[in-house]
Amino acid sequence: MQLTNRSKLVSHKTQSFSERLYLPAVLKGMATTFSHLFKKRPTIMYPEQKREYAPVYRGQHVLKRDENGAERCTSCGMCAVACPAEAITMESAERKKGEEGLYREEKYAKTYEINMLRCIFCGLCEEACPKEAIFLTDRQVPTEFERDDFIYGKNKLVEPIDKPVDVTKRQTPQVLEFKKKPGLKHNTLFDKKQLK
Ligand code: SF4
Ligand code: SF4
Repeated sequence: MQLTNRSKLVSHKTQSFSERLYLPAVLKGMATTFSHLFKKRPTIMYPEQKREYAPVYRGQHVLKRDENGAERCTSCGMCAVACPAEAITMESAERKKGEEGLYREEKYAKTYEINMLRCIFCGLCEEACPKEAIFLTDRQVPTEFERDDFIYGKNKLVEPIDKPVDVTKRQTPQVLEFKKKPGLKHNTLFDKKQLK
């Protein structure tokens, strides 16, 4: 019984003389190959040559510090909840007296990890963050030999205190406009001064 009408009859026609020679088919294939010699090469000689990234390129994350050098992340977990790849994990801790210069809020991330093998660089963690703490940057995640090395902890994510990571590209006019909304008072505008 025929279940569908999608079946196709295979042709059993005998090959012609030229088909049996295979030569026309070989010549056709070589012509295709040679035609590519005169086309512009799509490959680039990386790393000597580097391709320009799109302005919206989303690469390796950074955990930002505030203008006084304190970590902005308050370990609220919003980024982890928003992450569709379940790539973010963290452990919270309470700030102790005297640590005000290290952590901006009373609660901070004792550990914060992103599994770069899981991450799909969608940028939802950045959008979800109410503290302007996490941003995606135009930096590439380097290749590694071990899977464990793709789990980025705070040592790789928090920006160096003396070398702030520029995230101004992520602050498009639309984003800045959104952050002016009165209900989002934590989203104070990113202070460009700290980049200087
Ligand atoms: S960029 Fe997307 S996938 Fe990657 S950690 Fe952020 S929310 Fe998760
Ligand atoms: S990075 Fe932002 S959203 Fe994620 S835990 Fe820290 S403050 Fe919350």
